[in-house]
Amino acid sequence: MNTISVDLLAKVEPPEENTYLNCIRCGLCLAVCPTYREDLIETASPRGRVALARKGLEGQLDFSPNLYEQMYKCFGCLACDDICPVGIRPAELALALRVLQEQARPKKWKDILFGKILSQPEMIENTTLPLRIYQSLGLRRLVYSLGLRNLLPGKIRDLEAMLPRIPRRPLRHFLPEITESFGENRHQVGFYLGCAQSLLFSEGSSASVRVLARNDCRVMAPRNVECCGMPALGYGRLDLVRKQARHNIAVYESLEVEAIVTDCATCGSTLKGYGKLLQDDPDWADRAKNFSGRVRDISEFLCELPLKKPGNRLDARVTYHEPCHLGRAQQVKDQPRDLLKLIDGLEFRELPEADWCCGSAGSQLMTHYETSLCVLDRKMNNLKQAGAQIIASGCPGCQMQLNSGIRRNNLNVRVVHPILLLDEAYGTPDE
Ligand code: SF4
Ligand code: SF4
Repeated sequence: MNTISVDLLAKVEPPEENTYLNCIRCGLCLAVCPTYREDLIETASPRGRVALARKGLEGQLDFSPNLYEQMYKCFGCLACDDICPVGIRPAELALALRVLQEQARPKKWKDILFGKILSQPEMIENTTLPLRIYQSLGLRRLVYSLGLRNLLPGKIRDLEAMLPRIPRRPLRHFLPEITESFGENRHQVGFYLGCAQSLLFSEGSSASVRVLARNDCRVMAPRNVECCGMPALGYGRLDLVRKQARHNIAVYESLEVEAIVTDCATCGSTLKGYGKLLQDDPDWADRAKNFSGRVRDISEFLCELPLKKPGNRLDARVTYHEPCHLGRAQQVKDQPRDLLKLIDGLEFRELPEADWCCGSAGSQLMTHYETSLCVLDRKMNNLKQAGAQIIASGCPGCQMQLNSGIRRNNLNVRVVHPILLLDEAYGTPDE
């Protein structure tokens, strides 16, 4: 039985009362919650999660697997945190309860997955080898051309459809550790290459480094970074995230860079949170604060520069899906849109409910398939309304989820990182 007793909880650090006590049950958060809008069940709502947490923390309810399941059903989209009039942060509370559960009863598989595999880039690369073989040997093409994909069970089919065209080699293996500026060396910046960008979206991150170099940046991309820690955080393993944070901070301390730029919304939001994560660690608090203060999403960083105007036209209709980890977590909303609007020929169409979660939330299509799919369908209906040929989004998780939705709905829409379009508009460095 996995129920956790109040006695056991007393030995770990429960969330403070002010994180749940002041909920006035107004229900404003219900209207913006993607899981509630699909399930219409109070326990699947932010208000319900706050009430469950409170009852558990006050000892009126067991911390049963069912209670924790509601915390894991939360997509962490932060829409409720944004709207609550009294400052309750249900998304943070749901995460805090996951942490509490892990502190009370750590799970071995999480030690292995987050502590051993995700902390070693070589290990992550090895685990994705079968996927690279599947694509590079042409098996995927065969599966699609023979219609075998339609024979797969629905969930496997949708998960398969998430995959982009996977590069033969992870970008970490061949992205230069130093890329000189194409013009003057006005800025020296660090680039944080996230795991998913390296393994699945290497074209996007290659483009990011080129765009930085084209805009007078000397780019330093250390190979020895570890996963930012978001997967471990989502599964309640604060101890492992802190370990990864210390490693990554030390890596960039050895470089003299004015900013640490990343093109992954999820990585960016985690890296910016290192300061808060390590604020009580006397040896690391200042170092973490300094590190986080220099982290920038690439669109945010580029918009702070005198940016060069791209010379090529891209004639297409484009729309933009705003990743929760970028728009809400980092308040980076206008910059990706502004960059797209810089490109001649590109007709920008605002996506209805652009900031509504796409249903990815890391692994929700795997762990909470039905709800994730319903949320994705809503996104696809909005995409159809926008009438765009391209949808841009700066988060690998969102891009994969959008890929799945587009294939499910037989839409002819390209999913890209906004910076990839900017890079295309700049043309190859020799042009
Ligand atoms: S969490 Fe905030 S928005 Fe939601 S019901 Fe409570 S007070 Fe209202
Ligand atoms: S973070 Fe999103 S999914 Fe989770 S409770 Fe809040 S609105 Fe709902």
